[in-house]
Amino acid sequence: MTKPFHPPQRTLMGPGPSDVSPRVLEALGRPTIGHLDPAFVGMMDEVKALLQYAFQTRNALTMPVSAPGSAGMETCFTNLVEPGDKVVICQNGVFGGRMKENVERCGGTAVMVENEWGHAIDPNKLDETLKAHPDAKIVAFVHAETSTGAQSDAKTLVEIAHHHDCLTIVDAVTSLGGTPVLVDEWQIDAVYSGSQKCLSCTPGLSPISFSQRALDKVRSRTHKVQSWFLDLNLVMGYWGDGGKRTYHHTAPVNALYGLHEALVILKEEGLENAWARHTKHHQALCAGLEAMGLSFVVAPEHRLPQLNAVTIPTGVDDIAIRSTLLNDYALEIGAGLGVMAGKVWRIGLMGHACNARNIYLCLSALDDVLSRAGAPIKRGVAVAAAQALLKD
Ligand SMILES: *Cc1c(COP(=O)(O)O)cnc(C)c1O
Repeated sequence: MTKPFHPPQRTLMGPGPSDVSPRVLEALGRPTIGHLDPAFVGMMDEVKALLQYAFQTRNALTMPVSAPGSAGMETCFTNLVEPGDKVVICQNGVFGGRMKENVERCGGTAVMVENEWGHAIDPNKLDETLKAHPDAKIVAFVHAETSTGAQSDAKTLVEIAHHHDCLTIVDAVTSLGGTPVLVDEWQIDAVYSGSQKCLSCTPGLSPISFSQRALDKVRSRTHKVQSWFLDLNLVMGYWGDGGKRTYHHTAPVNALYGLHEALVILKEEGLENAWARHTKHHQALCAGLEAMGLSFVVAPEHRLPQLNAVTIPTGVDDIAIRSTLLNDYALEIGAGLGVMAGKVWRIGLMGHACNARNIYLCLSALDDVLSRAGAPIKRGVAVAAAQALLKD
């Protein structure tokens, strides 16, 4: 007989999922009720209001898509791109490449603005590309590139896009809850995120927010959105404002209890405090890793606090080190993605996982495992370097 599955306890310091708070796990186990039950509908309104807080927006269309971050990405592209539309995509890592795939599958034409991986997106390159393509309708980019740990200046990129009369689609999957995402102030038109990164919820939900301008475009489409499930014109019958909610699909009821709890935790802490916590712990982790002799992929001014990519020392076996960390320390760190596979490790400090205890665990585990593997690191100094920045 197959037995019930009991996963091992891990510390999740990779690119997501991040450690989930016991409060969220407990919320997931509450009784399932109908997705049109008045009590549930009341909770949905709270989820929307809490997401508006997280995104710093008043956008009425702010809700979680019932699927992971990739579905939030698809929601933005399928609803906003019509066949024949030209979309400028700024790419500086793996996720920008997926945007291109999305545009092409919607029948649009993608114009790529290539930036070096590990660097922020260059606003001048975007401006030049838009000058050369005055017929472009949308600009899309990843705010926090999880594949490299680089953060781009979303506010400036959106400004440039608007200057050229383009709508903007912003990937805030890794940034939301860890670093400022000011949807209204920056005038982002469509944004999507994920539940399992800095929101520290379980994977499988994707918060999105659409401005009125973006919504107008969705409503005035001449072609039907090619995905029935993601068509916001239909989804809004269930998630929209104005009282009556009608069946579209069965909402993931318990998963939404979890998201509600995760957002309540974020609100209790306060967004500004959450951002400050990520920055402070990032600096401590960075001090420790650098004291040990590891070097960061991204220049200090563009580093994401919640995703720390470090170069794997030469001669060190990537897979062997990560499996020793997992087996001996129950610690997960991330592998490199795309062109960075085998070359970097990605150490996440996301949401609930962003705390001093995890930093000490990670630094002492790396100290031990790397020195056992004969890597040229400085032993016994990393934890103290981090502690110096965390003790008060
Ligand atoms: C994780 C991630 C996604 C995809 O989210 P899933 O929940 O894995 O589908 C998209 N963009 C970025 C920047 C991410 O980090």
